[in-house]
Amino acid sequence: MLKITNTLTRKKEKFVPIEDKKVRFYQCGPTVYSRQHIGNLSAAVRGDLIRRALKYLGYDVKYVRNITDVGHLVSDGDEGEDKMAKGAKKERLSPQEIAEKYTSLYHNDLQKLNVIPPDVEPKATEYVYKMAEFAQTLLDKGYAYAREKAIYFDVDKFPEYNKLNRQKLEKNKVGAGFGDVEDDDKKNPYDFALWFFKVGVHKNALQTWEYKFSGINQPTLHGFPGWHIECSAMALSTLGETIDIHMGGVEHIAVHHTNEIAQSEALTGKEYVKYWLHHEHLLIDGEKMSKSKGNIFTLDDLEQKGYRPLDFRYFLLSAHYRSKQNFTFKALDASARSLDKILEKLNSFPNNGGQISNYYKEKFINALEDDFNIAVGLSVLWEVLSSNLSPEDKRATILDFDKVLGLDLELENNKDNDIKITPELRKLLDEREKARKEKNFIEADRIRDEIAEKYGLVVIDTKSGQKLRKLSNNSTSLK
Ligand SMILES: [Zn+2]
Repeated sequence: MLKITNTLTRKKEKFVPIEDKKVRFYQCGPTVYSRQHIGNLSAAVRGDLIRRALKYLGYDVKYVRNITDVGHLVSDGDEGEDKMAKGAKKERLSPQEIAEKYTSLYHNDLQKLNVIPPDVEPKATEYVYKMAEFAQTLLDKGYAYAREKAIYFDVDKFPEYNKLNRQKLEKNKVGAGFGDVEDDDKKNPYDFALWFFKVGVHKNALQTWEYKFSGINQPTLHGFPGWHIECSAMALSTLGETIDIHMGGVEHIAVHHTNEIAQSEALTGKEYVKYWLHHEHLLIDGEKMSKSKGNIFTLDDLEQKGYRPLDFRYFLLSAHYRSKQNFTFKALDASARSLDKILEKLNSFPNNGGQISNYYKEKFINALEDDFNIAVGLSVLWEVLSSNLSPEDKRATILDFDKVLGLDLELENNKDNDIKITPELRKLLDEREKARKEKNFIEADRIRDEIAEKYGLVVIDTKSGQKLRKLSNNSTSLK
């Protein structure tokens, strides 16, 4: 029986989906105005592990993770400059070009980390009119009101507002990490914006849409949605009015998810989310990642240091999603060694059938059913390796676990069996090796993409040179 820690109740609860064996699963995606660091990527890996675990446990999962390509404002409190606009100005690109560039880099990173693409990946820009309609309905129902700068959600009209964050409403004001924009015109400081008009501090906003609201005076037809309404609109549109699991980082409990609940439940009159899952963050050498500390790493940084992306995935497997994990290069080294050891052992086992061990499978399932305890699941894999099972059975059992762990163990195992290196492919690999030696990573990446497209192969950089793997059905091209 699957149990999940639900932030809403602060309890580990039995998981009962709305529809038997079906799971509607939404995870907040990234804002694509810059390169995602390993902390952002870890969120996607954690979502991927839960999605794979649910599938392994026999659920039919519809997994949605959005792309925020409408500039939400700099802080969680929606104050200050637009993130997309800021990125666009810096690189002299349009917000759309910025979004496309960083979405594609994000996809690229996730493919390397063996994260299965979501079933639906809505982009906020595709749902802007849905968001405007959403705000209109809240106006019509009396949950929202318009002012000169924005349309606000009237928090006082929704008595259960703090049910997720369990904070006192007095704390929910600008400056206390709550609220939204500083606007003396608001009824209450904790009211948050559903729609901003292109006036005042936003008069130079780069991404705006025209929408005529009814029943209010609006200073201009031009405007753009508030950030919180984006996820609600996309979740409702892709998964329905009530969803089973909504996942996001712990920092979203206080504001973003609290606001999502208020506006969605005011709109539909129904429960928005049954199980709220919040994952903790990666620490770097015991500290929070920050620009000022210079401790922000991208996947490229790790690859340039000679690590495989899956070394980082392995590292993430060793902690529970609800615990703060401390990233150090020493720990990453240990992960790389562990992964090598598993691959080495699997390579030495004969590849001829074998039976999945019921005993260890049950242990593995028990770990997953205990609030997705992947770290314990991983330790069961090691138990299998040192067990009395026959090598064939060990192999079959471990490859079965890998459906969840996603370490591509089978591909690695089969890598030399049927990949033919043609002279053309050899030439490309040599050119790529040369580009990497010259630190021309753009060219190296371009050749890697060419190889993926032409041959359906992934190039993996290891300490002993480039290795090839077949693209699996699970990690097919993300385009
Ligand atoms: Zn969200």
